[in-house]
Amino acid sequence: MPAADDTGAGWSGIDPAELAALIEPVPGLPSRGHVDILRLDRLHPHISGNKAFKLAGFLPRFRASGRRALLSFGGPYSNHLHALAALGQALNIPVIALVRGYAHLPLTATLQDCQSWGTELVFADKKTYAQRYDPQWQQELAQHYDAFVIPEGGAGDAGEQECRQLAPLCADYDQVWLAVGSGTTALGLAKGLQEQRIDCELVGVNAVADQGERQRAWQQAMPADIRWRLLDDAHLGAFGRTSPELLALIERYDHQHLPLDPVYTAKLLLAFERELVTEPLNARVLLIHSGGLQGRRGYSL
Ligand SMILES: *Cc1c(COP(=O)(O)O)cnc(C)c1O
Repeated sequence: MPAADDTGAGWSGIDPAELAALIEPVPGLPSRGHVDILRLDRLHPHISGNKAFKLAGFLPRFRASGRRALLSFGGPYSNHLHALAALGQALNIPVIALVRGYAHLPLTATLQDCQSWGTELVFADKKTYAQRYDPQWQQELAQHYDAFVIPEGGAGDAGEQECRQLAPLCADYDQVWLAVGSGTTALGLAKGLQEQRIDCELVGVNAVADQGERQRAWQQAMPADIRWRLLDDAHLGAFGRTSPELLALIERYDHQHLPLDPVYTAKLLLAFERELVTEPLNARVLLIHSGGLQGRRGYSL
């Protein structure tokens, strides 16, 4: 994993023309079909994965708001805060990170990077952090910091917006698979498929164990005429939980030069490999590598 460094001059956002070049075959799969992976982890050294798409959708709204800074929420290993901090540095926008945790604990590698890129870390205990969806608290924070508030994980319709750009890449495939957290990326992709009339089944792999209200909300918002399903048996019982099988899978793909993160993308491959065993595949499949590799530093990998 590269150490935190300067994220370089600027960030011009996502160039749709360059996305197709991030597609490569998945090595070492026993399959009669054809399996490719879209390496969004390679988009940018730090503003990578699906977080780049989600954040890109918020920038026009931030600019229109006239606010000074960007503010968002996340845990101490958050891919979202990491990408946001890098974006802030690249575009010279002040960033405030509301972090679930305690200031007296040693900083994680994720938060060290954020801090080194100039992000202001504000710690919130569990109870305070639990208010992160509360519009009133968000408004108080916005006023206090003169900041535009981005929901946790870059969720919401601004977050979905740029994820529509993923749809054209699915046109040559029978199925597209991706890891699901808040469902924002899946929903944006599904809307893109619908608008662009691309007939490709969307398969989500749930990385969040408990299907709470927020998970139900995105599922209800899925366009009715899209073929999709959510696999709910690869999260290993909890968000971020690993198993010897999962760690062995990561190691196996490391050897094939396909780095995976334990929280999302390894669970995507776990679910996909399981389906290959029970259902010999004869289809063209695109897997989406949604990034998250910085989070590997929180595990002994
Ligand atoms: C945040 C994240 C996801 C989940 O995306 P949602 O839009 O919240 O469903 C998937 N993979 C990686 C690597 C992530 O960082």
